[in-house]
Amino acid sequence: MTVYDLDLEQLTERLVSWGEPAYRARQVYAQLWRRSATYDEMTDLSAALRGRLEAELPLGVEVLDERTADRGATRKVLLQLGGRHVIETVLMGYRDRATACVSSQSGCAMNCSFCATGQMGLMNNLSAGEIAAQVVWARRAASRLPHSTPRRITNVVFMGMGEPFANERPVLAAVARLVDPRGMRLGSRHITISTVGVVPAIKRLPDANDQVRLAVSFHAADDELRNELVPANRLWPLDDLVEAIAGWRERTHHRPSIEWAMIDGVNDSDEQAHKLAPIAFGLHAHVNLIPLNPTHGSPTRPSPPGRIRAFVQVLERAGVNVTVRDTRGRPIEAACGQLRWEHDRATAAV
Ligand code: SAH
Repeated sequence: MTVYDLDLEQLTERLVSWGEPAYRARQVYAQLWRRSATYDEMTDLSAALRGRLEAELPLGVEVLDERTADRGATRKVLLQLGGRHVIETVLMGYRDRATACVSSQSGCAMNCSFCATGQMGLMNNLSAGEIAAQVVWARRAASRLPHSTPRRITNVVFMGMGEPFANERPVLAAVARLVDPRGMRLGSRHITISTVGVVPAIKRLPDANDQVRLAVSFHAADDELRNELVPANRLWPLDDLVEAIAGWRERTHHRPSIEWAMIDGVNDSDEQAHKLAPIAFGLHAHVNLIPLNPTHGSPTRPSPPGRIRAFVQVLERAGVNVTVRDTRGRPIEAACGQLRWEHDRATAAV
């Protein structure tokens, strides 16, 4: 539990029970969420109150390791949240936006074969506050981004460790906290939830928030190959998944994204592209190709550039909207659970 788990009403209740006036809670809430301030920085509060907040409602965010790459435009951090979970958060500055990539779980139970987090198994679910706290960290870090990028968070993507829809309620509560007009005031449409394809949760999503964007990790366009790469496909096969995404699109009128890690000789054939094209076209989806980030202990490699170009061409000829994601932060193990992997190895060796 962290102070970020409390909404304004809960924080008010707590402070009033300490004998503070209600406006004090609004003051603290605004500093936490608007200024991303730590208690030390809330110099308009008495030292006694700051001490009590620190002791009873800790921020619960400890930086264990921080690295930068891409000339400071990518910052990756290993955070310990709520005094227990160790997770990764990444900040990526681009010319027109700055994106925080957050984790929803410590570890993951989905077991996708090419994903470093998948190989760890699930340790814990994060609370709503522990998820939102990562964006607070990213906001502070954004002030140190190069001048060539916006130095405030414009976008949030749930593409860190974990499967957001396996921790659905806290993830949606975190989104609610991030968009709270009395707090951080991010726009829901600048927040993207990336899922392995948890069909029931995709169907429920518009009821909770019909602005938030949806990205679905396909990686294969037939059940046989997808069962292998994304084992969750056995529970929610492609036909059901496509139907759920189409339903989401009809209800929200937003374009879904399809993510596809390009793995050399595994899922990068023209044949897979030809199978993907009608699905993506039918869903009006945007296809995002991610050259595989090689993970420790896995023999798989990213597809060569020529293969990626050929795959893109098949999709484009079919009228599908497609981009290749630039890979960020490889030298700092920024991709996909690898910093945590390194941390575990180092701690095991001590
Ligand atoms: N559980 C969510 C978020 C995962 S991370 C989901 O499945 O969507 C975000 C994206 O990175 C997913 O599409 C995931 O499949 C992909 N990914 C995981 N490991 C990768 C790797 N080694 N190389 C490239 N993409 C990877």
